[in-house]
Amino acid sequence: MTAHLQNNTTTNTIAISVVVPLYNEEATIPELYTRLTNSIQAITNNYELIWVNDGSADDTLGQMKKYAAQDSHIKYISFSRNFGHQSAISAGIENAIGNAVVIIDGDLQDPPEVIADLYAKFNEGYHVVYAKRAKRDGETWFKKYTAKTFYRVLKNITSIDIPVDTGDFRIISKEIKQHLTAMDEKNKFIRGQIAWLGYKQTFIEYDRHERQLGETKFTVRKMIRFALDGITSFSNFPLQIATFLGFFFSVIAFLVILYALYSKFILNEVVNGWTSIMVATMFLGGVQLLCVGIIGEYISRIANDVKKRPSFIIEENNLDN
Ligand code: UDP
Ligand code: MG
Repeated sequence: MTAHLQNNTTTNTIAISVVVPLYNEEATIPELYTRLTNSIQAITNNYELIWVNDGSADDTLGQMKKYAAQDSHIKYISFSRNFGHQSAISAGIENAIGNAVVIIDGDLQDPPEVIADLYAKFNEGYHVVYAKRAKRDGETWFKKYTAKTFYRVLKNITSIDIPVDTGDFRIISKEIKQHLTAMDEKNKFIRGQIAWLGYKQTFIEYDRHERQLGETKFTVRKMIRFALDGITSFSNFPLQIATFLGFFFSVIAFLVILYALYSKFILNEVVNGWTSIMVATMFLGGVQLLCVGIIGEYISRIANDVKKRPSFIIEENNLDN
């Protein structure tokens, strides 16, 4: 009886929660399970693996249930449809009860073996230790180049220090978890939100490997959305460009108006002005549409936040087991 109670108290304080978003990853799950379990068990026995099924069309959920039935460390959360990587991570983080929470991709591109290094650094007293990609193997030139450019642009136009070449692979403290959960924005950009929170943050470097099974779930469209979420959540720079363009062309327009009046009333020239009118109209039309578009990107996100819809719907889970 006493032994049982003791056992219970130790398992009740979870040292590490590992959050894994999974979307159509049935092929990876067996290896993921083994490598995650081995890596964490080398650190502690008091852990939970939180697998979030982001509306997979394959047997990802079936696999999750199979492993959960064998191993009580496994918690799963299953969405009613695909809500996206950031929402999947959010659901996992919200439901994590560990003293430290690890976020890791489920395709084994973030090696589970690195968790030990993250945890060691975390125990030196940091609230966030993120894993920085020293090397990116096996990704297309396009992906590497666009990612690199995006991180540099973002860094330059935001006032907070969002780390470059870093995904969501990291370990965070309970405090960070609580603040993050309280941030109610709908278009989430978690790595930015964590940077925004402050506290003592640091990083370790690792080599990112090629995806071995399955293929990337990020279409170009999803990548663009994500990049725009990051920029609009953390920078008003695009709006400032709109203002700048507005000012710049107003000044030019004013000069042109003066010239037009001058030629009509002083020079008495009848200007044959078709070309200039066309050029000005087209050009101003373009600039105006661009600016309206930029404003639209912000407004659509404000609209999302005002609607206060949840970021995800959980259809089933085993969190209470
Ligand atoms: N993922 C997800 N929902 C999505 C897209 C991706 O949960 O809508 C998961 C995916 O299963 C993987 C992780 O997020 O575990 C990273 O996705 P992926 O490897 O496709 O992204 P990439 O490494 O190509 O940036
Ligand atoms: Mg990947």
